Amino acid sequence: MLACTVDREPDPLTDEQIARLGAALRAHHERLESSLARGAAGTKPVDLDEPIGRLSRIDALAQREMNDAGRRTQQAELTQVKLALEAIEAGEYGVCRACDESIRFQRLQARPFSTVCIRCQSERERT
Ligand SMILES: [Zn+2]
Repeated sequence: MLACTVDREPDPLTDEQIARLGAALRAHHERLESSLARGAAGTKPVDLDEPIGRLSRIDALAQREMNDAGRRTQQAELTQVKLALEAIEAGEYGVCRACDESIRFQRLQARPFSTVCIRCQSERERT
């Protein structure tokens, strides 16, 4: 007899859910691309000789660090978004790359570019 497990396998996505997530992904893709394009034009190198005082110089460097980190995050996210869009094309979207189980729709709504299920994700973060 089948036991009623709490952690039952999520159902595969419906076509309608995939269509909705696909639209969200394309919008996200555009946003990231334009933000990255803008960032590339707007980054100024910090001029260390400029007499702006030590603290504001540290500030400016910290600011640039943060911008760089933000750009790296956006780049990584853009790669994931592209992979997710490719997966939709290939009919493999919503399946965990690590364990081949369906990724929950709720998770994909929050992060449409997720490529692993919540369980594999938390295992990765633990290691
Ligand atoms: Zn998984």
